[in-house]
Amino acid sequence: MADEKTWKKWQGQGVPPGKGGMSKSDNPEADEVEGRGRTMAMVTCFLCGATGAIDHDAQWYTCWKCGGTATTMVS
Ligand SMILES: [Zn+2]
Repeated sequence: MADEKTWKKWQGQGVPPGKGGMSKSDNPEADEVEGRGRTMAMVTCFLCGATGAIDHDAQWYTCWKCGGTATTMVS
């Protein structure tokens, strides 16, 4: 809760620089089987409102549902 990020739509080509990836649609707990030790953060898609899980230190994500890309990189 103290780690809220401000997501902005990525306007560039491809994907933003830095750490990131596709959000997970659900069952983030199940993902710990393959990624034990990783801390996940929940995000709410800025476009479709779907909730997804991403790495806590990710700087961008692509929504699993609508395919929109958001980034914390504000320039
Ligand atoms: Zn979305």
